[in-house]
Amino acid sequence: MISHRQRPATPWLLIVLFIIISASSILLGFIYYKSQKARLLKDKNLELSAIADLKVSQIAQWRNERLSDAVLIGENAPFVKLLYEYLHNKNIKNNVNLRSEISASLKSVTRSSEYKNVLLIDSLGIVRSYYPNKDTMMGDYMKTMFPDLLKLESGVLTDFHRASTVNYIHLDLVIPLINTWQKDSSVFGLLAIRVDPKEILYPLVQVWPVPGKTPESYLIRQEGDQILYLSELRFKKNSELELRKSLSEEKLPEAMAVRGIESTLDGIDYRGAAVIAAMRKVPGSPWYMVAKISHSEVFTALNNQMTMIIIIIILFILTFGLVLGTIEWNENARFYREKYETELDHLALRKHFDYILKYANDIILLTDRNMVIIEANDRAFEAYQRDRNELIGMSLAKIRAPSALKELENERRILDEKGYSTYETVHVRKDGTLMPVEISARKVEIEGVKYFQSICRDITERKSAEETLRESEERFRKIFEESPISIAMTGKDLAIIRANSAFCKMLGYREEELKSNTIRSFTHPDYIAGDDISLLRLVAEEIPVYHTENRYIRKDKSVIWGSATISIIRNNNDEVQYFLVMIEDITLRKIAESELIAAKEKAEESDRLKTAFLHNVSHEIRTPMNAIIGFSALLNEPDTTEEERHQFIDIIFQSGSQLLSIINDIVDIANIESGQVKLNIKEVNLNSSLRTLGEQFSYKEKSDLITINFETGLTDDKSFVLTDGVKLIQILSNLINNATKFTREGRIDFGYKVKDGTLEFFVKDTGIGIPQEHHEKIFERFFQVDNLISRKFGGTGLGLSICKAYVELLGGKIWVISNPGEGTDFRFTIPFNAPQMQNQREKESPKEKEKGKKYPIV
Ligand code: ADP
Repeated sequence: MISHRQRPATPWLLIVLFIIISASSILLGFIYYKSQKARLLKDKNLELSAIADLKVSQIAQWRNERLSDAVLIGENAPFVKLLYEYLHNKNIKNNVNLRSEISASLKSVTRSSEYKNVLLIDSLGIVRSYYPNKDTMMGDYMKTMFPDLLKLESGVLTDFHRASTVNYIHLDLVIPLINTWQKDSSVFGLLAIRVDPKEILYPLVQVWPVPGKTPESYLIRQEGDQILYLSELRFKKNSELELRKSLSEEKLPEAMAVRGIESTLDGIDYRGAAVIAAMRKVPGSPWYMVAKISHSEVFTALNNQMTMIIIIIILFILTFGLVLGTIEWNENARFYREKYETELDHLALRKHFDYILKYANDIILLTDRNMVIIEANDRAFEAYQRDRNELIGMSLAKIRAPSALKELENERRILDEKGYSTYETVHVRKDGTLMPVEISARKVEIEGVKYFQSICRDITERKSAEETLRESEERFRKIFEESPISIAMTGKDLAIIRANSAFCKMLGYREEELKSNTIRSFTHPDYIAGDDISLLRLVAEEIPVYHTENRYIRKDKSVIWGSATISIIRNNNDEVQYFLVMIEDITLRKIAESELIAAKEKAEESDRLKTAFLHNVSHEIRTPMNAIIGFSALLNEPDTTEEERHQFIDIIFQSGSQLLSIINDIVDIANIESGQVKLNIKEVNLNSSLRTLGEQFSYKEKSDLITINFETGLTDDKSFVLTDGVKLIQILSNLINNATKFTREGRIDFGYKVKDGTLEFFVKDTGIGIPQEHHEKIFERFFQVDNLISRKFGGTGLGLSICKAYVELLGGKIWVISNPGEGTDFRFTIPFNAPQMQNQREKESPKEKEKGKKYPIV
């Protein structure tokens, strides 16, 4: 990262690290020194104590040895007797032998090197003998003690003393001489053996187990409130029995010894030097042993070690400081290098930036706080059609369009408060033309002075494009809204976003209601799956648009037909954004189409039927006509017999009748179609008419195979109705005729019943039956079920349509109940209109009922 600082940051972290590490090193050194010092003091103290103990025990032993010597000498009876004899001999001067014996004895006593000389003192204190011939006088020290010494019972060792008569410090081993062999034994003299401490005791006191510069041990004793040094001192020669120190010197080890203290680590010795000392009392004597060593010696090694440690610590700190310094130096070097490189970059960047500013496509203005232009780029001069001299120093208000002037102050205030601002306004060129601009302004600080920098973009083209777009959108909106075609815009999920009024009207919803639904909500369920597949293909761009004809459900649940066209509106990334759904209501067209198809089918059917009819009619007419013509010609043949002629006339008659029947049917249907058939309503006796009909058919062909039965639903006296009797009989006659035609053998039942106030007629046979799908069609004109019998017997296919037309004319309806092979049951109704005089007739004629009467066919 490039730093914007002028100087490298103070390396606080390194400094703190350095301080911590240095302080820690010093602290560690100090702690080490302290602990070492304590350990050393402890060790030295132990060592001094051991030395002091050893010396005290040696001195005590030495004293005991002296006292033992005293006992040995004092209890040496021959020796003591010899001395007694010597002291009590009056004539000792002449007794040379005795004197030499004494002298030899005394000499033997001084055989030990530490016994300097020996004096034989009598009870009066007179030195009577001595050895050697030196220091022969009794000193002052002994003289003062003499009376007490005479009371001794065993030998004693006196303290160190110096005598005027003896030139060296000495101790006396005083042995009382007691005449134990006499009854009242008493001290008769003393044997004083001078001990020179220099010989044995002082070396014993002074000798040190290891060599050293300051270790020292000596004996002292208390004398009043003073300390008297008894033995030789290492650092003060000839001070024994001379040097005295006050007991009140607290730090003086000797004073401490007298106070009962056995060791000190910070004593001050007789020289005033700091010492460690161990003090012991010598048992059985007033002496104290002091063993000491100077601090200076004890701490020399430690101090040397510490010096090394301090040097190491200093070196460590210096090295550490050097490392940190190197790191910091490197950091600084890097900082300045980066700064230098950054400066270079900045310089290049600034050059580049100046270049951009100069040739920028946008106008760049720098104004002061009074909105006076103080700098502008080339684009500004070009855009405002002003040269540099004109524009620089000009107030910003002068390049503002008058209409946009009043906002200037407010915009300046916002910019001042927020520091930045973006807005649109209108500027004016020198020639007075207006220039809409988008301004991005910012408050900048250059060397402590605040300025406003504005980047103004000429948005003339954008504005006009926006206007064009707005107009286009408005146009589109109008087209969309006012289009007679139903248009809806949906999202990717087919949810309706917008729907025009035609769309709303088509489905019967308001636009708000539609918006909460998808197109699927209004699509008939039969078409949804097909739509989904096609929409997937549309999205996959397999098809450009999706056209379909669907059924849609309106709000009132009615179903309409719609011709839908669905296309996709994609965004810039070519992703599906909307679906545009256009639906044309084609319900009327669909109805018209279906009607047309039905009509066409009907026409085709009718055409087909007519063709069949013509074919039939031609066949039906031609057959009897051929017979008539052929047999008429035969009548003229001369060789024709009378019998044959009768036969021929019969055939001609029947063919003529057949022809007439066909023509009647055609005429009837023509009349029916032209609406010329009129009803002739009269009173009809049903039972009588039906009976006649039955009789007529009884005599026709197949009478041996078919029985015809008829039933009446009313008694004869009540079987009067008002209807067109001719037509009724024609209907029944047609039906019975068909029944006989389509029944090979079996029975035919016909008749009527009164049912719900109407008369229901039936003609039922046991013939071939009619398939279900033809039940309706057989009543249509010219329709014939294609079967063997139809083909064999011919027919026009008009009979049943005439029946239907007549039944309907009479106010009833006709239908058939039949299945192939199960016979056929034709039924029709007519209104039961009884004539008024019926009741009267009922009274006159007896009741009779004809039911199930059979007419055998002859
Ligand atoms: P057609 O002159 O051909 O008999 P109809 O109109 O009387 O004309 O009858 C139409 C058709 O109905 C007949 O061709 C026949 O196929 C069928 N049909 C009518 N009556 C009967 C019936 N009783 N049994 C079976 N088929 C019948």
